[in-house]
Amino acid sequence: MSEELLSFEPATGESLWRGPVSRVDDEVEIARRAWPAWAAQAVTFRAEALRRFADRVKAEAETLADLIARETGKPLWEARTEVESVANKVDISVKAYAERTPNRRIEGAMGLRNAVRHKPHGALAVLGPYNFPAHLPNGHITPALLAGNSVLFKPSEKTPATGAKLVELFHSAGVPNEVLRLVIGGPATGRELASHEGIDGLLFTGSARTGLALSRQFASTPGKMLALEMGGNNPIVVWDTADLRAAAILVVQSAFLSAGQRCTNARRLIIKDALADGLLEEVKSLANRLIVDHPHADPAPYMGPVIDNEAADGLTESFLVLMSSGGQVIRHMTRPQAGRPFLTPGIIDVTAMAERPDIELFGPLLQVIRVESFEAAIAEANNTAFGLSAALIGGTPQLYDQFWANARAGVINWNRPTNGASSAAPFGGIGLSGNHRPSAFYAADYCAYPVASSESDALRASIGVGLRDTQDGKPPLIRKGFL
Ligand code: NAD
Repeated sequence: MSEELLSFEPATGESLWRGPVSRVDDEVEIARRAWPAWAAQAVTFRAEALRRFADRVKAEAETLADLIARETGKPLWEARTEVESVANKVDISVKAYAERTPNRRIEGAMGLRNAVRHKPHGALAVLGPYNFPAHLPNGHITPALLAGNSVLFKPSEKTPATGAKLVELFHSAGVPNEVLRLVIGGPATGRELASHEGIDGLLFTGSARTGLALSRQFASTPGKMLALEMGGNNPIVVWDTADLRAAAILVVQSAFLSAGQRCTNARRLIIKDALADGLLEEVKSLANRLIVDHPHADPAPYMGPVIDNEAADGLTESFLVLMSSGGQVIRHMTRPQAGRPFLTPGIIDVTAMAERPDIELFGPLLQVIRVESFEAAIAEANNTAFGLSAALIGGTPQLYDQFWANARAGVINWNRPTNGASSAAPFGGIGLSGNHRPSAFYAADYCAYPVASSESDALRASIGVGLRDTQDGKPPLIRKGFL
């Protein structure tokens, strides 16, 4: 009997899906055999199949959103926005493919030309996270398929139902079964897939811990593509502003959207000391009003549960550790429903802590740090090995220039939340947040490699220098100046 994977609804604990763990060798063999025929099709043919996929997603939008909401616990309204992003990804990827990997032809003298064209890598593995179980893997899958690769997609073991549904929608749109393979399993299956010699690359979205392990593993195979999209310990800096209410809304959105389970959520609120009491009062009173409930509840919640009890336990424990290490509680993080992973937003002032842990606390937990000067705020923002997103709220254009120039992150915003990045822009981080292979609009770059060709329709050859004249009376083959 083959091993099975089960998925549960975080909000209720009910079982949602079950399916057999995949045989990685078999899947890789199928995908390897399939990619050359897929790559040989015109890109317009592949784009058409993907456009039909977008139509299928729109036609089944409610079913898919309902499934995402059940499987992740995120509110239904938010799951609907995820489905929209999935459908929109196709047009963005077609545009990005044309802009980022265009064919170029530079005509030279005498029929010579230099050409630049792009080729797919072959069979690419995609490992997905649980927090955006459709949109984020799709951010790799769609551009990879468009470029002519075959794809082996392993969804997170916490969201296999959404992964299976996504693959079903691709297949029903006409993407061949052999070209996109669903690989079901947990970290062990992920390791097997990542280390399989039959794959030509790996496109990963997930934690820095897993990304680092993959990076070490791929160090011995530099010829394989490795694109890593990892987590963050993101700062939001609030500086001079008369509108503390609006600032508080941006802070709450940055910290608590998706129950703090976005890679771009703000984890550290860095505030000018003189503003701190007033701002924190606003933030706290807004956080008190956030509805934490089932994804389908009425009235609609702002936050659902986190992904499972283990994650909720880890977060409440981290809150206690911060408290016992000198953190001053501004708002307690609580578990309103015994046995289920709902969490209320936690806010803690860690200014007095001598050593603050530089880890990603992936949930609704905001740490506050008070500073006296803008230079100290920037230094504090950069006081992390991660570098995904950062935002400045308030200040002046000059201060924003200073912040932009000095903040170390792949996403830097002004008077906007740290999250909600656009798919029409590149998306990636530095430090522990990525390996300089940004996704979203720049995903095209890692889905194909450029080939430079020097070409001539006619066979023409010459050696301009270094030849003796012939002894047989025939004129020399090559005359000076003819290159
Ligand atoms: P995770 O690293 O635990 O898992 C991601 C995937 O990798 C899963 O499919 C998992 O099965 C697989 N995996 C786990 N260990 C593996 C190993 N040793 N070898 C191969 N595969 C392995 O991540 P998660 O908890 O599912 O997702 C949350 C994390 O993702 C957070 O850290 C978040 O910040 C990050 N994230 C980053 C981005 C981004 O674009 N930068 C976006 C969303 C989420």
